Amino acid sequence: MGSAAAQSRYDLDRDAFAKVLAGEPAYRVEQVWDGLYRQGRELDQLTNVPKTLRHRLVSILPTALTEVTRTTADDGQTIKWLWDLRDGHRIETVLMHYPDRSTVCVSSQAGCAMACGFCATGQAGFDRHLTAGEIVEQVVRARREAGDRRVSNIVFMGMGEPLANFGPMWSAVHRLHDDLGIGARHLTVSTVGLVPGIKRLTAADLPVNLAVSLHAANDALRNRLVPINRRYPLDQLITACEDYTTVTRRRVSFEWALIADVNDRFSDAEELAEIARPLRAHVNLIPLNATPGYPTEGSSRNRVMRFRDALDEAGVNATVRDTRGSDIDAACGQLRAGHEAKVVLTERAR
Ligand code: SAH
Repeated sequence: MGSAAAQSRYDLDRDAFAKVLAGEPAYRVEQVWDGLYRQGRELDQLTNVPKTLRHRLVSILPTALTEVTRTTADDGQTIKWLWDLRDGHRIETVLMHYPDRSTVCVSSQAGCAMACGFCATGQAGFDRHLTAGEIVEQVVRARREAGDRRVSNIVFMGMGEPLANFGPMWSAVHRLHDDLGIGARHLTVSTVGLVPGIKRLTAADLPVNLAVSLHAANDALRNRLVPINRRYPLDQLITACEDYTTVTRRRVSFEWALIADVNDRFSDAEELAEIARPLRAHVNLIPLNATPGYPTEGSSRNRVMRFRDALDEAGVNATVRDTRGSDIDAACGQLRAGHEAKVVLTERAR
């Protein structure tokens, strides 16, 4: 892990902060910690901390994220950030306001190595893992923007595969839970289906929500849509989901991006129901969002509703999700920060 990235202000735990503040009165650690986490303020705005100390902290503990652009959609209810990391890689974060809640969708990696063909991040490839501080800071910065509309939920559904970056992802989960006060029921880790990662999550110390991006309920189709299925086929994945439910008493949810004539037929709904019903899993349906590298289209509204009704009749709870921010490429699967920038750079280099 790059030491530069590891030094950003939200990467330090309390002990590391105590070391940085050695020689200061003991209460300073709590003061700075409270300012950074509970209040979510900039270090130089911590007016209860002496100015010289503030300046020293700012210089040795930089922010991890520099805003490149901020785009809004859905009447200001969806806000997408493009951030520069300190080593030049780029990631995106999305804040979504709903009548009853506000949700931040965070990235866990710059890019992604899972190579799902329909996903823009997958198309662009993997850059690197994020540190815990880089994940936490996305939430702090979005929360600052949200203001009175308190951020209540966090979903790890931005760029990257969170279970492929388990350690830093889990440190971030703890920081969000312990220090930002977000309950385990309001934290959702979404995975492409990395079975060893699900097992680790099952043994972990906070029962967060687990979302599994299923998209296909037979191995032949899932091998095509989600290549990692070849390594961890459906029977292993389903067993891991059963264990997660048994141990944590949390229901698993299945994400299903409906692709016209690929996985939106009645037979697909029937196959999915066979898997979801015994698990009492909840299914989230979303029409596939268009991405540059994938020719197929999302299902029509009509097909989406029919698919939901078929699940309903088969005794499976399903919700149709709205596609937030699709016109600003902020919707599920459309985050591909840095890719265009890289293309430009390569062309310039020629
Ligand atoms: N790697 C994790 C989390 C990131 S993706 C995972 O796979 O779950 C977040 C969700 O968006 C996943 O369910 C993913 O399958 C879905 N997704 C990816 N591309 C999409 C697209 N083009 N349209 C709709 N959903 C998409």
